[in-house]
Amino acid sequence: MSGILVLAEHDGGAFKKSATELIGKASELAAALGTQVSAAVVGDAPAASLGAAGAGKVYQVQGDHSSYDAAAMASAWKAIVDAASPDVILASASYVGKDALPRLVALLNTGMGSEVTELRAEGGAVIGRRPLYAGKLYADVQISSSPAVFSVRPNSFPQPGAGSGEAEVVTVSAGAQALTTVVETLQPTSTTADLTEAERIVSGGRALKSAENFDNVIRPLAAAVGATVGASRAAVDAGYASHSEQVGQTGKTVNPTLYIAAGISGAIQHLAGMRTSKVIVAINKDPEAPIFEHATYGIVDDLFEVCPRLTKAFEEL
Ligand SMILES: Cc1cc2nc3c(=O)[nH]c(=O)nc-3n(C[C@H](O)[C@H](O)[C@H](O)COP(=O)(O)OP(=O)(O)OC[C@H]3O[C@@H](n4cnc5c(N)ncnc54)[C@H](O)[C@@H]3O)c2cc1C
Repeated sequence: MSGILVLAEHDGGAFKKSATELIGKASELAAALGTQVSAAVVGDAPAASLGAAGAGKVYQVQGDHSSYDAAAMASAWKAIVDAASPDVILASASYVGKDALPRLVALLNTGMGSEVTELRAEGGAVIGRRPLYAGKLYADVQISSSPAVFSVRPNSFPQPGAGSGEAEVVTVSAGAQALTTVVETLQPTSTTADLTEAERIVSGGRALKSAENFDNVIRPLAAAVGATVGASRAAVDAGYASHSEQVGQTGKTVNPTLYIAAGISGAIQHLAGMRTSKVIVAINKDPEAPIFEHATYGIVDDLFEVCPRLTKAFEEL
């Protein structure tokens, strides 16, 4: 094996949690396979610092890449892959991972397992487990071409322990021209983590009955738990929450450690977006609600009673 390469995403120079999470998992796989971990960084970011997460070497295409362009990103990654010759490539199933990674895979003429939630080393290869049919089935995927590429849902693995040491940085040049120009970037107003990367989510459904109730019951609970707010489509369609907060088949796919669903029935299209959450807490006054079949903990009660009490309890903590 010539190594595992992690495509490390950053936001204006700050590495995303998914970057260190993947380097941590890659280190575990590399130890089992007797190989090395390196990372790929496109743009200006403190590449050497990824040594603390476990990367021995970091390949960096320097320059201003703040104006994201999928073709230019894929081309920069391709230049790094040519320099690093990895056997396995891991990237986050983020927006960039969904947009630019398949282009890299096409440039490399190789195979890809997308949105995996587990990875293991077996028989000298890396195997990824991915949910299918809205999480009803799981498929174990081994890529028969090289390099084997996997995109991984954020929060699938723990963060590596805070290590020390700097990685060796290798500068790579990539000459691709951006095919698009970003005219304006609109920053979200929310200060909480993006839903797709959030470790904790509190979601509300149709049962909230009004935007005012949603704001008075769901948002304070989310704030008390340190969570990002999510919503069912019924709540979004009724105007209680914004579309950017919708979880599910036509909303966002999330993978938090904790998912609290309040007044959400658990329709298959909602489950499609949150079923892989590690701990699911359902609050619903109907004991027959389908969400309870998937919940780790269930509270059969009125959310207007339960949520304020939870909010108070978490605030006191
Ligand atoms: C093509 C397609 C795509 C879709 N995409 C999505 C998607 O991305 N995301 C999504 O969420 N849905 C999606 N849907 C819609 C989905 O089928 C459901 O209609 C929707 O998820 C229901 O939302 P809900 O659970 O909030 O509402 P409901 O199904 O109406 O459930 C409300 C629940 O609240 C409970 N309840 C009521 N009052 C209280 C109370 N006071 N306290 C506690 N519990 C209470 C009820 O018992 C009930 O279980 C999609 C549908 C289609 C056809």
